[in-house]
Amino acid sequence: MSEKTIFKKIIDGEIPADVIYEDDLCMVFRDIAPKAPTHLLVIPKKEIATIDDIADEDAAVMGHLWLVVRDVARKLGLENGYRVIVNCKEEGGQEVPHIHLHLMGGRKLTWPPG
Ligand code: IMP
Repeated sequence: MSEKTIFKKIIDGEIPADVIYEDDLCMVFRDIAPKAPTHLLVIPKKEIATIDDIADEDAAVMGHLWLVVRDVARKLGLENGYRVIVNCKEEGGQEVPHIHLHLMGGRKLTWPPG
């Protein structure tokens, strides 16, 4: 069996995280190395490694993540805007093989990312 990812360990309560929101389907916690004043990670509790691993049956949970992004951004006062990024695999810059949305805001973000 492959080793648990760091995010699965957070889901299972084995390592601590600064959790902003949690429900049956997902968790939202602060990124340990923030790239913006607000930098959160929105993850499904289901272990889905990358965008390429999303199954048709995951449509509801993936859609749910976007509603949580909307609600958390509103709760944190990001009314001037924010950015959501999903890195996919090595060339996309993904380091943790558990799908996650980066929710970043609190400053003017530049474009394009590197
Ligand atoms: P990726 O490069 O898109 O896979 O992003 C992984 C993110 O997880 C990076 O921004 C890391 O800073 C973040 N990260 C890694 N370990 C932890 C942790 O234990 N708690 C919170 N964030 C983490």
